[in-house]
Amino acid sequence: MDLTWSESELAFREEARDWLAANVPAEPLPSGDTRDGFSAHLEWERRLFADRWAVVSWPVEYGGRDASLWEWLIFEEEYHRAGAPQRVTQNGIFLLAPTLFEFGTQEQRDTLLPRMAAAQDLWCQGWSEPGAGSDLAGIRSRAERDDEAGGWRLTGQKTWTTRGAFCTHLFGLFRTDPQAGRHRGLTYFLVPLDTPGVTVRGFERLDGDEGFAEVFFEDAFVPDGAVPGGAVLGGVDNGWRVAMATTGSERGLTLRSPGRFLRAADRLVELARSQPEAATGPLVDRVTEIWMQAQAYQQFTLAQVTDIVEGRPPGARSSLNKLYWSELDIRLHEAALELLGPEGQTDNLWSRGFQFSLAGPIYAGTNEIQRNIVAERVLGLPRT
Ligand SMILES: Cc1cc2nc3c(=O)[nH]c(=O)nc-3n(C[C@H](O)[C@H](O)[C@H](O)COP(=O)(O)OP(=O)(O)OC[C@H]3O[C@@H](n4cnc5c(N)ncnc54)[C@H](O)[C@@H]3O)c2cc1C
Repeated sequence: MDLTWSESELAFREEARDWLAANVPAEPLPSGDTRDGFSAHLEWERRLFADRWAVVSWPVEYGGRDASLWEWLIFEEEYHRAGAPQRVTQNGIFLLAPTLFEFGTQEQRDTLLPRMAAAQDLWCQGWSEPGAGSDLAGIRSRAERDDEAGGWRLTGQKTWTTRGAFCTHLFGLFRTDPQAGRHRGLTYFLVPLDTPGVTVRGFERLDGDEGFAEVFFEDAFVPDGAVPGGAVLGGVDNGWRVAMATTGSERGLTLRSPGRFLRAADRLVELARSQPEAATGPLVDRVTEIWMQAQAYQQFTLAQVTDIVEGRPPGARSSLNKLYWSELDIRLHEAALELLGPEGQTDNLWSRGFQFSLAGPIYAGTNEIQRNIVAERVLGLPRT
């Protein structure tokens, strides 16, 4: 692995840094998990898109810059370094888009990706159900073909749909062949949320933000033309395979890039410097260790990008990323709260970050499940 950045990569970093310095809002935006905050974030995302910074690694014709994976990592580092807002379009651009690039038809890609990049279509992820979380293959929501009407009829319920109440579209898994084995007979659907028969009910998280929704499908008819190129992604009854590509992005490279943790680790060091009375002894050692772990995650990711570029996709190893970043995020915020002492118990960026870090071992597949995957599919250990 050659860790020297090329001239053009350095120039790309500088261009990104300059643009961000001139454009990142001076004050943090309100939470993107509230209705007003979501709108403010969309304005920001549209500004990114207008100057072709929304999806740098995508082709130019979809609004990107044809940037390499290395350049994408550079952009992410600069984005977080500049303290730029969280991406509320993340489930579309970081999860669905890589899956569309891999499994979408030309028509689906040509029409859906530019609208997603421009934050016109806003996508949420409809996988979990009241009886299917870790056991995703237990999905009961049904999709039945109606040939006469030319479309699909959806029934069932999804839950924990992040920002579902603010989105326009959902990508979800539905059972199309109830007779087939649990992992077979599932299909990956692309569904406009204004389809008659679809009800989206937002609900509050413990921190008060309306970050989640339940989505109900009551014989909701999705015509074949509801989504250009068709509402099915990757073929009928092939949904499990397509979904595994999405989980690879969610756990691995795209959802949580190292830039986010490098920036947070730098902020933690700044906090320790500003609290000399609290930052003593073992706590200083922990802050140092956490800073080093953030650097280690960057090195790990650089090695992974080398693998990808050389044709060795991470597959099940993306579970290692997920374990690492989610546990690092908790350690990092716990150390910050200790440094802050009683102030850590008040409502501030660190305490809010701490609350959200606790969700890290749950979303994108729980860490217990990731450990099962690593044990069985990376280490080849027997099931007990
Ligand atoms: C912040 C956040 C955002 C989310 N966003 C979305 C979203 O946008 N779309 C979406 O579809 N879902 C979303 N989810 C839901 C998430 O995917 C599920 O919560 C997760 O998959 C776990 O499922 P569950 O909650 O049903 O827990 P369960 O599956 O019931 O698990 C309960 C506990 O049992 C453990 N467990 C279960 N099976 C095993 C096993 N075989 N071996 C060892 N331990 C096991 C789990 O690790 C967990 O600790 C989100 C969740 C959170 C917290």
